[in-house]
Amino acid sequence: MKAQIHPPYHQITVVCSCGNSFQTGSTKQNISVEVCYKCHPLYTGEHRFIDATGRVDKFRLAMQQAKTYQATAAQKKKKGAKEEKKSKSLRELLGEV
Ligand SMILES: [Zn+2]
Repeated sequence: MKAQIHPPYHQITVVCSCGNSFQTGSTKQNISVEVCYKCHPLYTGEHRFIDATGRVDKFRLAMQQAKTYQATAAQKKKKGAKEEKKSKSLRELLGEV
């Protein structure tokens, strides 16, 4: 190993969201994880979804917002085109003066 190029290596405690903790070596000072070997569904046999709450709902909301945005953008474009058609010609402008 070359000197002065490697990050410091620590013996740290990893803390899981389930409350479990274990020792390991790392260059980080502390590590907190959402799933560990004691609470992962593969090891526990428990059927549950991990952090999948509302993903479909979020996607549907985003799609709805995109549709409304496209609809309003199309209406604005049509209004802009109509206003351009309504603009007066030079003859009309001179007639007013
Ligand atoms: Zn855990």
